[in-house]
Amino acid sequence: MTEIHTGGCQCGALRFKVEGPLGEASICHCRMCQKAFGGFYAPLVSVPETSRLVWTRGSLKHFQSSNHATRGFCADCGTPLTYEAPDGIALAIGTFDDPSQIPPSIQFGVEAKLPYADSMAQIPERVTEDDMEAAPFLASLVSFQHPDHDTETWPPVRTGANDNE
Ligand SMILES: [Zn+2]
Ligand SMILES: [Zn+2]
Repeated sequence: MTEIHTGGCQCGALRFKVEGPLGEASICHCRMCQKAFGGFYAPLVSVPETSRLVWTRGSLKHFQSSNHATRGFCADCGTPLTYEAPDGIALAIGTFDDPSQIPPSIQFGVEAKLPYADSMAQIPERVTEDDMEAAPFLASLVSFQHPDHDTETWPPVRTGANDNE
């Protein structure tokens, strides 16, 4: 049986499927990846030529970030999804339905690594539920994020009874 990996953007307008094994998982510290992800670095996993990437819902919008590379994102919610270069395509690890199974094994672009990138594991930690001041906010929270699995229709048909706006 072929191994299948699924994922998509935050709003659910874009969904993808990779048939076959994933390639090398990495984080890239280069300044372009920091910008493109709005993050400290970009977590990316390559799609080997022997595996098949299918967009099962929607289509990407692209920004050409250099003469060699483009970056694909969701035009509706802004989620960064791809890094595309002549040597292949890589997907943003956080957009997979189960990113916990895709541990990075190499760091790229370390000359641009932010000075605090290596010490983040040592900063104080909090569990969301421990923040009592945020309890009323959390109790009334309604997520519009697409769930971590494929859906027949999206967005779901909302009934008046569940509307919270
Ligand atoms: Zn989206
Ligand atoms: Zn980079």
